[in-house]
Amino acid sequence: MTQEHPFGWGLIGASTIAAEHMIAALRAQPGHAVVAVASRSAERGRAYAERHGIARSTDSVDALLADPDVNAVYISTTNELHREQVLAAAAAGKHVLCEKPLALTLDDALAMVQACRDAGVVMATNHHLRNAATHRRIRDLVRSGAIGKPLYARVFHAVYLPPHLQGWRLDQPQAGGGVILDITVHDADTLRFILDAEPVEAVGMTQRAAMAREGLEDGVMAVLRFDNGVLAQLHDAFTVKHAGTGLEIHGEQGSIVGRNVMTQQPVGEVVLRTADGERSIPVEHESLYVRGVAAFCAALRGEGPPAATAEDGVRSLATALAVVEACRTGTTARVATPLI
Ligand code: NDP
Repeated sequence: MTQEHPFGWGLIGASTIAAEHMIAALRAQPGHAVVAVASRSAERGRAYAERHGIARSTDSVDALLADPDVNAVYISTTNELHREQVLAAAAAGKHVLCEKPLALTLDDALAMVQACRDAGVVMATNHHLRNAATHRRIRDLVRSGAIGKPLYARVFHAVYLPPHLQGWRLDQPQAGGGVILDITVHDADTLRFILDAEPVEAVGMTQRAAMAREGLEDGVMAVLRFDNGVLAQLHDAFTVKHAGTGLEIHGEQGSIVGRNVMTQQPVGEVVLRTADGERSIPVEHESLYVRGVAAFCAALRGEGPPAATAEDGVRSLATALAVVEACRTGTTARVATPLI
């Protein structure tokens, strides 16, 4: 890896998330460059490449994967495409950073993990919230026993889907739309990270208010039971403009309150409340996406796992799918324990 021969990234998907966060995060890694983008539309791909200063564009994922300058791919297409694209990338020997939800079914997600293992390439899931300084501080507090045994968690992740994203998420079930696969999957991953525990059961109810169509939900309230006994309450929506976000962990000896922490931005505050009173916890904010890609690059060098592994992506998907099932049936759904 030199200045003439950087570690090359190929983008699969001319997406908003790549434009708004990930191209910059990839370029922030020393010795790394974004060398090509694949879009289903040659014309849009060309315009996207030009807009973002990417040297090559193609309308063929195979062509991108055949490019010897591409060492790894970042996959941020709509969710139904992730499976075939990860399988193709693995077959081509390219490392894979894939967006969440990894796939639409657990079997598909497991096939993706297995393909990358068999090919000996690194695969990770882009669950950005684990990289937030706020969530890492909350995790440290829980682990250090600051609140005693954790009993409850509450996640406030009801937001307003910005107009430029009001597309497939709202009317394409076949593309993995709906708030549960979009947002609840992040809540699941963040809680798994903070609590070091796995969800085992889910109940929930969805709402279809002003936005979603075609049987999709644009809001959900759900409860998860974790294998350490914690009950977690989740509120996720696309339709709420002024709620603000947050995450709370309540334990036998204290409570941790994170405000404005379920976000893509490096912002938010953490407060610890115990018998000693209320204390603001210092947090050194940094870009969630730059940190996530840095962890992926370290994993490529054999220095530890990525921030969210492929297996984390599978387990967080299993949780989101259990919420979907619980809401559909109106009963308690078991979270599948995938064989990974
Ligand atoms: P976009 O809708 O911006 O992009 C998804 C696909 O839609 C692109 O691959 C592109 O297809 C197509 N597309 C984009 N813009 C247009 C357009 N103007 N006209 C026609 N087609 C278009 O989705 P997002 O960037 O919001 O999400 C992509 C993935 O990233 C999803 O899996 C999502 O869940 C995930 N995501 C993750 C986030 C995170 O923080 N981890 C945040 C946001 C999204 P093509 O490639 O063929 O051009």
